Amino acid sequence: MRLCAISVDLDEIPNYFAIHGLPEPTGPERSLVYDVAVDRLTALADELDLPLTLFAIGDDLTRPHAAAKLRAAHQLGFEIANHSLDHRYDLVRLGREAIRRQIEGGADAIEQAVGARPVGFRAPGYTITDEVFEVLGDLGTEYDSSVFPCPEYWAAKAVKIGLISAVGRKSRSIVDTPRVLTAPTRPYRIGRPYWRRGGGLLELPVQVTRGLRMPFFGTSITMGGPAVARGLARMCVGEPLVNLELHGIDVLDASDGLEALRPHQVDVRVAKGRKVDALRAAIGALRHAGYGFVTLREAAGRIEV
Ligand SMILES: [Zn+2]
Repeated sequence: MRLCAISVDLDEIPNYFAIHGLPEPTGPERSLVYDVAVDRLTALADELDLPLTLFAIGDDLTRPHAAAKLRAAHQLGFEIANHSLDHRYDLVRLGREAIRRQIEGGADAIEQAVGARPVGFRAPGYTITDEVFEVLGDLGTEYDSSVFPCPEYWAAKAVKIGLISAVGRKSRSIVDTPRVLTAPTRPYRIGRPYWRRGGGLLELPVQVTRGLRMPFFGTSITMGGPAVARGLARMCVGEPLVNLELHGIDVLDASDGLEALRPHQVDVRVAKGRKVDALRAAIGALRHAGYGFVTLREAAGRIEV
């Protein structure tokens, strides 16, 4: 059976200000992902009968309202996975002890909020190293989903960081080694270095299309609109697992309180209704092609590598 797992990284709004090197917001827009986006995602999941996997950042859960939202999602049957303790874009540069604190601390916070320990991990900014994988192995992680072997995304990120520094600001985002672009695009057990196959941890790479390896994720779907979304989805048909990664911000737009991001981030200019229509189109195309929808944990248990 063809499997599709849809996961959502619940990166809260200050992370986007940090990417653009902008000062942190202080108003209610700080928590739009938990306060608004999670409800929209839950409604979409209900409408389309999707078991979502939510990647939560531990530190966000110190806010009781966010912890309650996540607990409710868990009770609906969503998988809650670990997106680190506080989403340091430079996680890979922190040294082993701090890396361990980031991963273990994220898992502890999630367990405290929802009553179940997460088994999956995704690194902030798709940036991972052999050292991070070693820590994940030590901590008994069942799967990782951080590798994004997408030349277009990698180049766009490098250019964006350069442009931000050219206007005198400093992005907190960092660029990974281009060797990640040689990693398998289908689930594999990592070797050493991690972009080679081996007998290590199970990696579920973030989805790229067949052939050209174009990004098939929330940004390309919501920016492209329904027709492009359907086309990208069809270019993934045939993959044993489609690992579709979204972000909470994919169901928000500038009118939700993100006007300050509008000059810096093009996807907030797209109306949320159109974004959700594009997501429906992509998901519909996969369903039409015979894909069944599962959590990443279930995919990890069923996929043959
Ligand atoms: Zn993230």
